Amino acid sequence: MTEFGQMPIKQLRELIQRRDASVTEITQSFLSRIRQCDDKIKAFLTVEEEPALAQAARLDRQLASGESKNGLLSGIPLAIKDNIVTQGVRTTCASRILENYIPPYDATVVSRLKESGAILLGKTNCDEFAMGSSTENSAFFATRNPWDLERVPGGSSGGSAAAVAAGEAPGALGSDTGGSIRQPAAFCGTVGLKPTYGRVSRYGLVAFASSLDQIGPVGNSVSDVALLLQAIAGSDPQDSTSAARPVEDYLSEIDQEVKGLKIGVPKEWFGSGLDGQIEQSLQAAIKKLEGLGCSLLEVSMPQTEYAISTYYIIAPAEASSNLARYDGVRYGHRSADQKDLDSMFKSTRSEGFGEEVKRRIMIGTYVLSAGYYDAYFIKASKVRTLLRNDYLEAFKKVDFLVGPTTPSLPFKIGEKKKDPLEMYLMDVYTVTANLAGIPGLSLPCGFSQEGLPIGLQIQAPYFQEARLLNLAHALEQELNVKRPKLPI
Ligand code: GLN
Repeated sequence: MTEFGQMPIKQLRELIQRRDASVTEITQSFLSRIRQCDDKIKAFLTVEEEPALAQAARLDRQLASGESKNGLLSGIPLAIKDNIVTQGVRTTCASRILENYIPPYDATVVSRLKESGAILLGKTNCDEFAMGSSTENSAFFATRNPWDLERVPGGSSGGSAAAVAAGEAPGALGSDTGGSIRQPAAFCGTVGLKPTYGRVSRYGLVAFASSLDQIGPVGNSVSDVALLLQAIAGSDPQDSTSAARPVEDYLSEIDQEVKGLKIGVPKEWFGSGLDGQIEQSLQAAIKKLEGLGCSLLEVSMPQTEYAISTYYIIAPAEASSNLARYDGVRYGHRSADQKDLDSMFKSTRSEGFGEEVKRRIMIGTYVLSAGYYDAYFIKASKVRTLLRNDYLEAFKKVDFLVGPTTPSLPFKIGEKKKDPLEMYLMDVYTVTANLAGIPGLSLPCGFSQEGLPIGLQIQAPYFQEARLLNLAHALEQELNVKRPKLPI
């Protein structure tokens, strides 16, 4: 870990503004940390060393001449998940089919980060097309958990979470369709936020399941995550699903009192299947909410047991349609084996997609096909409404819900890869927020006996990010989790 490794972004900004550290020095230090440990962690698919240093030098010159714009993230190097497009920088979605794809434009979140002065450090590894919970589905290599290199960092934004945890980047962006920001954040001991559907533009996010996908930040602390959200949130004419609602001031609201808030604890989230150490750590953390003057209430989310089956019908259905565009014609891989058009499509897609992506395309095509559409897709859509109603009912009684982010501790590489169903079960506590569209945040609440991070999840009603960050920040201070020394 370098001196800037776990430094809050706010503090890095102050160093830069006071000119106690140059942007070049800070960028160099993250690049050298990447050089030192990323051959073991493998969080990055692409490192933008020279462009990052050139941008840092430009910012330093502007600071010296007094023409610096002093943006929200001026001089802060960040890592971006490789399913978010970056102009002129390879964006692969960790897939062979996009192995050499260089986008001609920036995603809105990327242009917003650039406008606020951030520097692109590199693109992070993920499960192929964000389909997975371990980053083992990357077509290139698996990312390792910095707390134990034999274990997975979670997924699909595993590279983003691992990079932040290891001090390779002070913050990162991920995407979350069914837990892909929150679950790796929990596995790596970082904070991850999936905003409300519509809060952040998805223009330039490579689509997986369009009614569920959302971009969000990963950071070392709640205030870093608030700062990153501030920079990327807001409506965007390029994304008709982005909400016109004004963006709140997340940072100024973060220190508000939380006394008197009602916190719901869904009884179905603590049933069998939840790891004992996670349960213990959560109960202790939830008690601390009472210490902060909040009241705890048991609530019921009766449809929880249907969440996984609902998600694993709707997400593959949408994916099978979104992925139809990879046909070898317009961009991406094209097979050399092309006797005629049909065989070209077939071999391009056979060669370009990995096993899990193919599985999802098959499931998705099946549940959408005539004869099965009503039994699966329509049925799942109805259950989705019931799941959403669970939230609407719960939020009549309480301000927030709190529970686990994941049912298990970070597992060993290879442990669940052969059993897709077991892997899917890892998403039981996260997919519901996507199905309903509400925001959810994972916060480190402790470490297991083996020194593995444990995450607590807080979920809030639509567009309540400011209050959610406020509560998470208060709990973070109260918990004051002592991190063991990072083994790498
Ligand atoms: N693990 C879930 C899946 O495999 C969620 C992925 C995501 O949020 N992108 O679909």
